[in-house]
Amino acid sequence: MLVKKSTETLNLGDKTRAIIKGRAPEDHHGVVNTPVYRASTILHPTVEAFEQRHDPTNKHRVVYGLLGTPSTFDLEEVVADLEGGYDAVLLPSGLAAITTALTTFLSPGDHLLIADTVYWPNRMFCDEHLKRLQVEVEYYDPTLGAGIETLIKANTKVIFLESPGSLTFEVQDIPAITEVAKRHHVVTILDNTWATPAFLKSFSLGIDVSIHAATKYLSGHSDIMMGIIISAEHVAADVRRNHRLFGQTASPDDAYTTLRSVRTLATRLKAHEAAGMALAQWLSARDEVERVLHPALPGHPGHDFFKRDYLGASGLFGIILKPQPRERMINMVNGMRLFGIGASWGGYEESGWQS
Ligand SMILES: *Cc1c(COP(=O)(O)O)cnc(C)c1O
Repeated sequence: MLVKKSTETLNLGDKTRAIIKGRAPEDHHGVVNTPVYRASTILHPTVEAFEQRHDPTNKHRVVYGLLGTPSTFDLEEVVADLEGGYDAVLLPSGLAAITTALTTFLSPGDHLLIADTVYWPNRMFCDEHLKRLQVEVEYYDPTLGAGIETLIKANTKVIFLESPGSLTFEVQDIPAITEVAKRHHVVTILDNTWATPAFLKSFSLGIDVSIHAATKYLSGHSDIMMGIIISAEHVAADVRRNHRLFGQTASPDDAYTTLRSVRTLATRLKAHEAAGMALAQWLSARDEVERVLHPALPGHPGHDFFKRDYLGASGLFGIILKPQPRERMINMVNGMRLFGIGASWGGYEESGWQS
């Protein structure tokens, strides 16, 4: 029989932790990867055991399929550990992670400060649903940094950051914003999809809640829809509670596949970084290109924060073309032989088009 050996006292790097965390071969006949547990009902041996099934000291107890199984708990453990958070929960999409995180902390009458560069469907949720719930939604300039203090009011409950921002890629001064937020007892939520837990350790910068579209690099092969919310300890119980109230869950098959992808996340991201940089530099030299929007290029808005806070750049960036007839742009995109036309990103191939 295999016995678990303690790794607690070893000082391990990211790549090693992404490999050894979130698996327990000793519990599964020595099988390296935790099998897929497909479950709704969980059987309990006695009435007494059933009555005591919710042990608050054990957040990873197998109680009912909705609340998770070893297949989902293992992925939660690895991503929380990699980013330096305390707990993580899985959801069926990145957007569900955003809406579940926001509604954990917002009630009618509260004020939300949200970066003007957030992922578009996030904005739709704020403008349509949060406003209907009488939440006061205010968009702020993502380059504001510590200047965000001037926008804080007595009813401000949440500052939502996305760094770099969608489509224009401004990098935010995260520690300056979390410093202000902490002084005013405001919760900070960061959409960290672009950097992933491998390239930005958001909790060491003071973030309370980090959300991910695992649909992108974490699963990484254009075949999974999944969201993850990672929380600091002081908000973890609130997030898990709201996740439960909304009946959020993710399939064990998708959790298994995403965990398999997370084992190679750091290695894949290095390749994305190199390919993205080579392409960004090539595009910078082209006459047709007005500007390349890439956080790792000097002169990009927030480039200094990128250098200070990020461990690397992922592969997604944007370009602004010099004005030209729409027909020429369409011909260029239609003529591409290696790039596909479609929404989403973070797969092993690349696609994306936003005019
Ligand atoms: C794609 C994306 C999301 C939403 O993820 P889905 O899984 O498609 O719902 C959220 N934030 C960012 C920055 C994204 O790019």
